[in-house]
Amino acid sequence: MDIVLPRWARTERVVLHETTHALIDRAYSRTCAAHGPEFVRLYVDLLATYHYPRVSKAALRTSARLAGLRVARRAEGLRPDGRWW
Ligand SMILES: [Zn+2]
Repeated sequence: MDIVLPRWARTERVVLHETTHALIDRAYSRTCAAHGPEFVRLYVDLLATYHYPRVSKAALRTSARLAGLRVARRAEGLRPDGRWW
């Protein structure tokens, strides 16, 4: 799968957002909501890993939940150690 972005969108957060779509599509064969709880779970995890490395994944997930987002507790492709693939 290719991800094509206009120049203005070539920021870390947008690239992580679009990468999340590609990974979720692969894991769920496009059977879950585009920005559903599974998407949010992976996006938050990628943001914590690559964009906010000083913030734990758990803290960012809690922040997302407090902001009213639904965050999946488990998701396809999530290994028991909490890493993806
Ligand atoms: Zn999106």
